[in-house]
Amino acid sequence: MRERLKKFLSGMFYQGRVPSSIIFYGKEGIGKRELALEFAEALLCLEDKYPPCGSCESCRHMKSFRHKSIEELMFYGEDKRGKSVYLYLRGDHPDFIYLNPEKAEIKIDQIRAVKDFVYLSPALSRKKVVFVKPAESMNQYAQNALLKVLEEPPEDTHFLLVTHKLQKILPTVKSRSFLLEVPPLTQEELKEITGINDDILLELSEGSIKMAMKLKEDKELLSTARAILEGDVLTFYKKVLEVEKWEQDRQYDLLRVVQALLHRRYVENRSLADKQALDKVSMGLEYLSKGLRLSLLLFQLRGGNANVLYKGALSRYQQGSAG
Ligand SMILES: [Zn+2]
Repeated sequence: MRERLKKFLSGMFYQGRVPSSIIFYGKEGIGKRELALEFAEALLCLEDKYPPCGSCESCRHMKSFRHKSIEELMFYGEDKRGKSVYLYLRGDHPDFIYLNPEKAEIKIDQIRAVKDFVYLSPALSRKKVVFVKPAESMNQYAQNALLKVLEEPPEDTHFLLVTHKLQKILPTVKSRSFLLEVPPLTQEELKEITGINDDILLELSEGSIKMAMKLKEDKELLSTARAILEGDVLTFYKKVLEVEKWEQDRQYDLLRVVQALLHRRYVENRSLADKQALDKVSMGLEYLSKGLRLSLLLFQLRGGNANVLYKGALSRYQQGSAG
């Protein structure tokens, strides 16, 4: 799967038909960023190679970008009023900038800075690259400002946008970009990359390297997710109270495992209840960072309201202990 995609990119590259804006989209954690970064390096490579040669001056500069810490790469400028504002990440390569949110959003000041960058001539390579990740973090103003740049694209600049939420990109921005879907990794590919042999872990990772590594390193994720979906009522309550105290990132990962388990169950039995539960989990993943309480969501998952939950879980508990 991945090989086919690389072949496609290679064709584009060697035919000199690289669009000025490409959106790499697909599920979270499947290596989109790595793929797009490698492509960026190739666009800048002085040997004009894809995959990039890895040893020319440009490639060497790009390597330093990968090795430095975020703090070292952060680049600040001034806004209209002369106040210091965060702009983007930049390393030793003069023709490459990496746009990311400082907190939750990529803001319009940052896009203004991008404009200043794109209308300069390249200093080292023949091209320049503006990398945007996660692209969906551009707020509406930022996206509209970016659109203006994309409408009159500077010939020597490529925009590489990476997102797992394509629906959050404005249709106008999408229509100015080439949409490149990155498929999830196959279980074989995942096995090769992560060295994980456990089939269940590979399956639940749903093609995501990130997820696979998390499941491998944090064994409690899977056991807790199982207890939440299938445990008896007492275990369920205990786990809900426990996870309420977890860090938000870990809660997010837990929800993703719950989602994968539910998905697996839904594929087997196509039950409406699982479908509805899946919808709730998607909503939860969306709103967790905005203050949603995980425990309330989990209670809903197991029964709609506390009463139904109690009865439902209890009957299962009784059945379980009787059998
Ligand atoms: Zn090179």
